[in-house]
Amino acid sequence: MRFSQALINTVREVPADAEIISHQLMLRTGMIKKLAAGIYSYLPLGYRVIRKIERIIRQEMDLAGAQEVYLPVLCPSEIWQESGRWSLYGPELMRLKDRHQREFCLGPTHEEVITDLVRREVRSYRQLPVNLYQIQTKFRDEIRPRFGLMRGREFIMKDAYSFDVDEEGAEISYIKMKETYQNIFSRCGLKFKMVEADTGAIGGSFSHEFMVLAESGEDLIAGCQKCDYGSNIEKAECLAQKGEFSSDAGLWKERESVSTPNLTAVKEVASFLGVNPEQLVKTLFVQADQEIVAVLIRGDYELNEVKLKNLLGAAEITMADKETIETVTGGSMGFSGPVGLKNVRLLADYSVKNLVNFVTGANLKDTHLINVNWERDCPVPAFADLRIVQEGDVCPRCGTALSITRGIEVGHIFKLGTKYSKALKACYLDREGEEKVIVMGCYGIGVGRTMAAAIEQNHDKDGIIWPMPIAPYQVLVLPTDVTDKEIRDTADFIYGQLLAVGIETIIDDRDERPGIKFKDADLLGIPLRITIGRKSLNQGLVEIRIRESGETIRVPKDKYQEKVQELIHKLSNIYIMKLI
Ligand code: ATP
Ligand code: MG
Repeated sequence: MRFSQALINTVREVPADAEIISHQLMLRTGMIKKLAAGIYSYLPLGYRVIRKIERIIRQEMDLAGAQEVYLPVLCPSEIWQESGRWSLYGPELMRLKDRHQREFCLGPTHEEVITDLVRREVRSYRQLPVNLYQIQTKFRDEIRPRFGLMRGREFIMKDAYSFDVDEEGAEISYIKMKETYQNIFSRCGLKFKMVEADTGAIGGSFSHEFMVLAESGEDLIAGCQKCDYGSNIEKAECLAQKGEFSSDAGLWKERESVSTPNLTAVKEVASFLGVNPEQLVKTLFVQADQEIVAVLIRGDYELNEVKLKNLLGAAEITMADKETIETVTGGSMGFSGPVGLKNVRLLADYSVKNLVNFVTGANLKDTHLINVNWERDCPVPAFADLRIVQEGDVCPRCGTALSITRGIEVGHIFKLGTKYSKALKACYLDREGEEKVIVMGCYGIGVGRTMAAAIEQNHDKDGIIWPMPIAPYQVLVLPTDVTDKEIRDTADFIYGQLLAVGIETIIDDRDERPGIKFKDADLLGIPLRITIGRKSLNQGLVEIRIRESGETIRVPKDKYQEKVQELIHKLSNIYIMKLI
């Protein structure tokens, strides 16, 4: 490509509405343009990166034996009603009506469509297993679209679905995808961690997310520093305090009411009473579908709503409002406690199980109770793992301290079981001619989000540093002065030769000052830059600069090609492709 003819508009200023670096750099390099909130056009440079990522995905999916399909974006409501998700999906689902007032949605994911296809195409066990994937635009009316391609309302996703005869087969398909995803993200040049993820209402223990490690990530990951345990914080287990509940009555002190005017925050109450926050028990009220539940948790810990939701099997949980709390407790918000609480289910996190003489609210304005004890002062609640893990908590696998880092979820794999195949009656006939339900898995990758994550991980103050495998161009040829005929001809010759051997090359043939060209080159982040300048040319040399390391190599002008090939190879994460 010739820069002079390309639609590339670089911008020096940081755009005001872009908070994170990948969004800023994509706008500054003119790779994407916003049309409306969460809706973007991909410009030529940006779309090249998208296609490179898609190519890696296609190669790896095909190697794993998956087959590419293309399903409709516009989906009739009937199949969504069959799965039950027409009513469950909520406002994220973009719904619309056709001229006959029939209801449709724009696909946010395609379990329904693919299951409908497979139930009509697959009859016999002989046709299974099968894994079908597509790369397609998805629609989700996200409540907070932001960070550019990271969380859009219209975005490109690779979604795949596996169909197997039984659980065992489904597990093999799942493991294959796990390996495939590791290959895909490694080939994209990303540093990532595969972590356990919450399976929510679907149940089962098979779901992993692929997290690109980056400060701007919206997800928190708990990772072990010793073994390979990693989990989304939503799922990360806190080691239960083992053993039956027992409390030593010999230690119990007399319970007292203490006046704590206007003190509701744990820290304030603890310091006022001269105790550690660990000695306080917080009482939280949660609206779980139609029920109000009181949850007790140690003062220094936070409730994990996902764990609570799963434990209760609730469709939705929200924190109860002030009015509800005051009706239930008969007291004032901020001063709740379990003593004397009636007609609500009590649940407690394991962290409060072994406490004695603890502090709680008194269900009375401006009052707390000290020296509260289970059994004597209130019934022993049901204990469960309900809190969010914290830095330094122990790894549930090996006991080493966990650390908490941020990550961007670029991929998510899921063993679905028969959730959709049962609902939509996707069955096959087994060897004995008996009808059985197909067992499914589903596997997603956010293509645009992967591109954004790659920039989050690979940039410096001057701009992007594309990993070679997903760079929009591999080489940028930069003649420092196009009015100098020898420079221009040499640059043109090199450009032509590189194209001829299949190297993706762009030439900055603009009549601009070298300073501007160098600045743009760094901003765009093409991995290799070949500079043709007067000084080196007088010595018969050209310069090859590696964007990543900043290293410059001077080579004779007729020897540049070998060096470029060698560097591309070195920077390409070429690995031995293996059939799985
Ligand atoms: P998140 O928790 O970030 O909303 P999700 O769990 O809703 O993600 P999935 O339904 O598993 O996401 O979708 C598969 C993949 O699609 C995700 O791993 C992510 O990479 C990508 N993705 C999901 N939502 C968006 C979005 N709004 N914009 C861009 N990519 C997205
Ligand atoms: Mg989502």
